[in-house]
Amino acid sequence: MADHGPAPLRAGNYNIYTGTPHGGVVPLTAQLGLEPPRYCAECGRRMVVQVRPDGWWAECSRHGRVDSADVDTRR
Ligand SMILES: [Zn+2]
Repeated sequence: MADHGPAPLRAGNYNIYTGTPHGGVVPLTAQLGLEPPRYCAECGRRMVVQVRPDGWWAECSRHGRVDSADVDTRR
């Protein structure tokens, strides 16, 4: 459980789409996995996001990069 998913997505301290501390509303497109995360769940920093035709990656300067290929479990 603890090692499921990269740190920038699993920490849950901040909403990864809005940057709101502890939860907040997740956009529907994000729930569907269509939208890349924009904030690090661990520290709330705004991540560098790159969208590719086949997915995306998002990188926190402190916690590293998350790739959709690593987190997409609903394909
Ligand atoms: Zn971070």
